Amino acid sequence: MQPLPPLAWSAPTTIDEVVAALAEGVPGEVRLHAGGTDLVPNLKRGVTSARRLIGLGRVAELQELVDGPADALGVGAAVTLDDLGRDPRVVARWPAVAEAARQVASPQLRRMATLGGNLCLDTRCRFYDQSAFWRGALGGCLKADGDACHVVPTGRKCVAACCADTPAPLIAAGAELELASVRGPRRVHVADFFAGDGARNHTLAPDELLVRVWLPAPAPGTRAGYQRLRRRGAIDFPLLTVAATVVVERDVVRAVTVVVGALGAVPRRLRGLDALAVGRPLDAAVRAAIAAAATRQCHPLDNLGDAAWRQAVVAPLVRRTLEALEPATAPDAASLR
Ligand SMILES: Cc1cc2nc3c(=O)[nH]c(=O)nc-3n(C[C@H](O)[C@H](O)[C@H](O)COP(=O)(O)OP(=O)(O)OC[C@H]3O[C@@H](n4cnc5c(N)ncnc54)[C@H](O)[C@@H]3O)c2cc1C
Ligand code: SF4
Repeated sequence: MQPLPPLAWSAPTTIDEVVAALAEGVPGEVRLHAGGTDLVPNLKRGVTSARRLIGLGRVAELQELVDGPADALGVGAAVTLDDLGRDPRVVARWPAVAEAARQVASPQLRRMATLGGNLCLDTRCRFYDQSAFWRGALGGCLKADGDACHVVPTGRKCVAACCADTPAPLIAAGAELELASVRGPRRVHVADFFAGDGARNHTLAPDELLVRVWLPAPAPGTRAGYQRLRRRGAIDFPLLTVAATVVVERDVVRAVTVVVGALGAVPRRLRGLDALAVGRPLDAAVRAAIAAAATRQCHPLDNLGDAAWRQAVVAPLVRRTLEALEPATAPDAASLR
């Protein structure tokens, strides 16, 4: 068994205490520990480092789901993926988000793993997520301890992939994040939270805490879906994720969003779909046109291996997602509690 390096530990009980502890810490030395399902293995393997951990498990406010204005739902960053995937409000109104939460890893891990940790998950690359000994033999890379990328040798930026399950359906649902630091609160759309550098693929400042994820009420006629590709049936990170939200009114598409994840550092929102689908029924021809657009816009790299296979699967996975959309029921939160 690999031991953890020596670490100081604190367990604040309020958001203000967490924010103050983050502000006092030396950037790079202090890390937040939510479920620890990614952080702890990474610390053990030397993929990441820290001298002090701030545990979030005793901050009650971060474990709650709260009703917000205009029938939005606020999900605390430390709500577990198991609770998220079973919550009746989430299952009924944001079925793709619930499905993504239920697809992560395994039941044991989902009972520890949190939504906040999933959104802030480190990127993955087959040349990086290895032991320090393995990585040392290759000579490091742009993400750490080196000056070249083994996936794109001519590249100047790390292209490790965002392999978390929840970002794509949250972007497709139009979700926003509530962040806190000593400078005060701020909100950012999930789509704008991510940055195109696999070495650090989100815009969270080192002293910022993700407090809550806000899910806006789905418009009447919304249907949503989530599918992912993986090598094994469980306990495996996705190699591709696809999330879709489609608003249908009188059998005609009014709005469509499709997001493909696990390609690079940022989940990719497909462009130009309105021209293919809006004003038409979501029939086989429209689904095929959207799938063809996905193939043109998505180009899996060798960051997770199997690039050609993943490329071939993009269109079928998008088509399958659009075929299996579920209704996101109109707001009636009271009846769901
Ligand atoms: C075997 C195995 C299989 C896995 N399979 C999958 C999978 O299929 N899909 C998937 O998406 N993930 C998978 N994971 C990764 C991980 O379990 C999940 O992504 C999980 O949701 C991470 O949440 P956590 O609470 O454990 O995060 P932690 O490990 O506690 O933290 C992860 C990162 O997020 C930061 N962080 C956590 N909370 C906050 C916050 N509130 N504000 C700011 N920063 C924060 C931490 O500092 C750390 O950098 C797998 C892990 C393992 C070990
Ligand atoms: S994509 Fe390149 S730079 Fe990033 S972790 Fe992989 S090998 Fe390193």
